[in-house]
Amino acid sequence: MSDSLWLTVYHRLYAAYGPQHWWPGETPFEVMVGAVLTQNTAWTNVERAIAQLKSAGALSCHAILALTAEALAELIRPAGYFNVKARRLKALCALLAEAGVAEDPGQLRATAPLPELRRRLLAVHGVGEETADSILLYALGLPVFVVDAYTRRIFARLGLITGSESYGRIQQAFESALPREVALYNEYHALIVHLGKAVCRPRPRCGECPLQALCPSAHGDLMRASP
Ligand code: SF4
Repeated sequence: MSDSLWLTVYHRLYAAYGPQHWWPGETPFEVMVGAVLTQNTAWTNVERAIAQLKSAGALSCHAILALTAEALAELIRPAGYFNVKARRLKALCALLAEAGVAEDPGQLRATAPLPELRRRLLAVHGVGEETADSILLYALGLPVFVVDAYTRRIFARLGLITGSESYGRIQQAFESALPREVALYNEYHALIVHLGKAVCRPRPRCGECPLQALCPSAHGDLMRASP
């Protein structure tokens, strides 16, 4: 498939679903916290956890570092895996403090080139590639394409990837096929998540899909298996 088809997929999704207004969060720090809390849970649970942090006056780097792990875990309990996520949030805040940006975490982007920032985030306990890239793109506004399970499933069905590639290879496929634009990366990933949740589900609803005319899987077994 040619590069332009990667863009065609984007345009069709955007025409069908419009802007997704990602990432919900009032500050870069709130987006970072959301990126950690959303691991293995629904966004509504993250919202409840963030609301509890806010009402406790604990949605800041200093406040999170000052809390005991137990107290922090209690505040973020709605997000699930709260003991693990409390440790991860503290580790992320320690990175921000070490970088001298605890007061203004959005300034992390000014402290090092993008590849170095990515390496530092990946070194934080419990921060994998998807979380690191979500922070880089949505909290710091840097041009990094976020890959997730929806991306893998949809683009394998579209025949653009096999689905068994590494995270890095899929990311590179997007980044080499698309203009290097933060706004495009932001919206594209959000649209992929929307399609993956609503339409290109494990049992896909191909009849409702704006990509149907492009998709080799739409006319095969997946189509027949859909309810
Ligand atoms: S046509 Fe079906 S399989 Fe293809 S992307 Fe859409 S929902 Fe997924």
